[in-house]
Amino acid sequence: MAAQQEKNLAEERKHQNMQNGTKASQGQWGRAWEVDWFSLASILFLLMFAPLIVYYFIMSCAQYQCSLTDPLLDLLTGNKHLSHIWNRTPMLTYRAAGIYFLWVAFQVFLYMSIPDFCHKFLPGYVGGVQEGAVTPAGAVNKYQINGLQAWIITHVLWFANASFLHFFSPTIIFDNWIPLLWCANILGYAVSTFAMIKGYFFPTNAKDCKFTGNFFYDYMMGIEFNPRIGKWFDFKLFFNGRPGIVAWTLINLSFAAKQQELYGEVTNSMILVNILQGIYVLDFFWNEAWYLKTIDICHDHFGWYLGWGDCVWLPYLYTLQGLYLVYHPVQLGTAHALGVLALGLLGYYIFRATNHQKDLFRRTNGNCRIWGRRPQYIECSYTSVDGTRYHSKLMTSGFWGWARHFNYTGDLMGSLAYCLACGFEHILPYFYIIYMGILLTHRCLRDEHRCSSKYGKDWKRYTAAVPYRLLPGVF
Ligand code: NDP
Repeated sequence: MAAQQEKNLAEERKHQNMQNGTKASQGQWGRAWEVDWFSLASILFLLMFAPLIVYYFIMSCAQYQCSLTDPLLDLLTGNKHLSHIWNRTPMLTYRAAGIYFLWVAFQVFLYMSIPDFCHKFLPGYVGGVQEGAVTPAGAVNKYQINGLQAWIITHVLWFANASFLHFFSPTIIFDNWIPLLWCANILGYAVSTFAMIKGYFFPTNAKDCKFTGNFFYDYMMGIEFNPRIGKWFDFKLFFNGRPGIVAWTLINLSFAAKQQELYGEVTNSMILVNILQGIYVLDFFWNEAWYLKTIDICHDHFGWYLGWGDCVWLPYLYTLQGLYLVYHPVQLGTAHALGVLALGLLGYYIFRATNHQKDLFRRTNGNCRIWGRRPQYIECSYTSVDGTRYHSKLMTSGFWGWARHFNYTGDLMGSLAYCLACGFEHILPYFYIIYMGILLTHRCLRDEHRCSSKYGKDWKRYTAAVPYRLLPGVF
């Protein structure tokens, strides 16, 4: 069996590396080959508690008006037992299961059955069949990029329904929010477990599988690099983008509709959250081809982290601001609202411009202009598992000369704006900026560890030229 051979090979490589005294030599620049105790402890913590964290946030809104402390106080003082809270929690319903099944099936249909037509009439948009980056085993995958089209079709149908078809209420998502959570969990666990089994028994590309020998690590971080069913159903592209990110804007619209139903108006804070997050989501789909070159697709293996995370964590926790505003319809003063808008737009501009600069630089192999000048860069090289040597460049111009991850800085500014739109009464809507701060800092360190293994001394020259990670002069 190919996967078994690769697993044995992995053991051999690991053994050789131990003998050489190197942990991750060039040619093995995927995820951590050795599982250290801290990673293992974090993984066990997340596997056990991440579903509970999501439940706790959503339950706090449904039962405690979004207070994060009141449920704990109730439990600690004996005022309530866990069973009280659990008994008031809506269970899985046939209706929610039906809605969720139709939703996922519809997104699979849009993904698999309608080749992209947007690139034929939208100037500047890159869609249709596109190539991903070179994998550690030296493969180059092809992807059908049609996410923008799926997003547009889904939203046109949503507005058509809300305006004149009236098949269902636009509050349908809010009204079934907790029953849908159980459905999302079922799909998240099912797809992660399936991906694990597939990695062992019928991987798409055995050479790109990674077996660390630790069951929990492999389940969480994934074995297969690019699991696929057939030629085109790519797990990473599908689950990362749809159903979670297409749903993000629909979920916000449903929360806005609920505000309208409950209070007879939609607050300016809800409009701001819808607009700023809408821009972020639309940007994601407009740049879906670029997304093939980001860490999620280029470097992460597909396991529970991506499978469950995309089905549950993303749609439920990235939309907390909208949910909060249903329970607390904050009407912002003009200066506050304008400040939030300005911060959100500036963050978005930095995020997009930084990502665009790197994309342009890599696509043209440095033959472009950044801020009106020829970009400066550091030549670097790396070796794939099969021993082939590749050459690459690390840019030191534009935002990439300010800090090594200024795109994350822009992302954080935008994230902070969503939270500030909710006022200052509760901590719950601020979860997002806290989480993004941890996620992007960890991602930054993880990426740099990988780049350092990949580029060796060339990476050292780059970090000497651009010494800061997120904020020039600070970190
Ligand atoms: P980057 O787009 O920053 O990609 C990092 C990779 O770019 C490195 O691994 C390296 O890859 C290459 N690279 C690094 N430095 C340079 C340089 N100076 N010149 C050229 N290439 C370089 O990271 P992500 O993929 O993590 O992020 C993409 C975007 O997605 C970010 O803006 C981030 O904020 C956003 N994001 C949002 C999330 C969310 O949940 N909202 C989650 C994660 C990301 P190589 O091996 O090719 O050299």
